[in-house]
Amino acid sequence: MKRLVAGLFAVVVPAAAGAQGAPDWKAVEAEAIRTIQSYVRINTSNPPGDVTKAADLLVSLLQREGVPVKRYESAPGRSIVLARLKGTGAAKPILLLHHMDVVPTDPSRWQHDPFGAEIADGKIWGRGTMDMKGLGVVQLMAFLSLKRQNVPLERDVIFMAVPDEEVGGELGAQWMRKNHYDELDPEYVLDEGGFGSRDLFAPGKLVFGISVAEKKILWLKLRAEGVAGHGSQPHDRNPNDKMIRALARLLGEPMPTTPFSVLQTKRGAARGEGVPASDEPGGVQGSPPLNMTSRVGPLAQNKFNNAIQHSTISITSFRSGVGEPPKVNVIPSVAEATLDCRVLPGTTKEQWLAEIRRRLGDPEIKIEITYEGEDPVVTTQDSKFYKALESAVKQEHPDAILTPMVVPYGTDSNGFRPLGVKSYGFTPVVVPAAAVGSMHGDAEFLPAEAVGPAIRILFNALKETVTR
Ligand SMILES: [Zn+2]
Repeated sequence: MKRLVAGLFAVVVPAAAGAQGAPDWKAVEAEAIRTIQSYVRINTSNPPGDVTKAADLLVSLLQREGVPVKRYESAPGRSIVLARLKGTGAAKPILLLHHMDVVPTDPSRWQHDPFGAEIADGKIWGRGTMDMKGLGVVQLMAFLSLKRQNVPLERDVIFMAVPDEEVGGELGAQWMRKNHYDELDPEYVLDEGGFGSRDLFAPGKLVFGISVAEKKILWLKLRAEGVAGHGSQPHDRNPNDKMIRALARLLGEPMPTTPFSVLQTKRGAARGEGVPASDEPGGVQGSPPLNMTSRVGPLAQNKFNNAIQHSTISITSFRSGVGEPPKVNVIPSVAEATLDCRVLPGTTKEQWLAEIRRRLGDPEIKIEITYEGEDPVVTTQDSKFYKALESAVKQEHPDAILTPMVVPYGTDSNGFRPLGVKSYGFTPVVVPAAAVGSMHGDAEFLPAEAVGPAIRILFNALKETVTR
């Protein structure tokens, strides 16, 4: 019945403005840019992380279009917006997920008002333009376009905006999974993660990376114990010396990679020995080999590409000394350092800890795990939505190279993967490496010209995925 009605619309009102055929993309783009500006102008810095006004804005935009909206509050100021386009239920929903909160700013370091959403040099400037109010609005406009075009839906399309992502997501996406999973129960999640760039992945190639996995987070605390003493008489039990030598050994050889099929990198995989490439973490089944390097070729040398090809260690603190400020002439008895480790799928926690121990080369240094993220689960690329994203990007950018990728950072979508949900991280924009580097920095921007094509890509991919 639903299909028949939709078919009739196609025949009866082909010329009705905006009702069928292609949306008026110019108008949609202008509306999107205005909406991004209004959204960025609402300061949702986290901490404190109050998103009430941002949620008010989204609710009013959705209600204006006649979309039913539910609103939750996981804690004061922690609003969650959930809107749904109802499908026939022939397939499980697709969930468009984004977070409303942003990381704090130091306005004195910004050239543009971080909450001004000023457009200059073709860029929309402000906190959240890239991470991730821009994508939130791209999702919203694609979602509204489905409704405005009366696209027949065989699955629900859910738009969800959450708080709290920038501090871990416990009161946002995680809270919804825990308390209202029946409202979601998606087959697919689309969140931030990958994106397109002409210079970041490989100069001169337009590459779009769709995130299918995240690295495992392991935060470690190292502790060296020694013997206190007078600074005038050095001895061989100074914990600082011990720690410094161990850390030098830790960083003294290149970071390892893993024979992990998203990368298909076997080079330098020594430390991943015993993890065959086919032994995909998370058990991806029936998917063709995922292979970033063979699709893109050699990746450009930069910190982003380094992080997606290697397990990495950042030494983030070093604490030692006696007294505050520490006495210059006292050898302390303890030195501590913290390591932020991000481990590629394919290397287990045990393998990674063994690697750290081997590199430190000092069995007396104690290693404590202070935080451990989920074991990586890799989402298959062999899915209707992934293929639809791929072909929608190709349609918009015929010269694009599409590749699955792992992202170095964490996002809300990862928590859906262990539940068997096919989660993709993808902002379908073309951005310069500088825009990617601007996230969490003091010059965050989104190229204005990227907005229109991104909405078209997402709309076309959704249209393909919600209908037979
Ligand atoms: Zn984000």
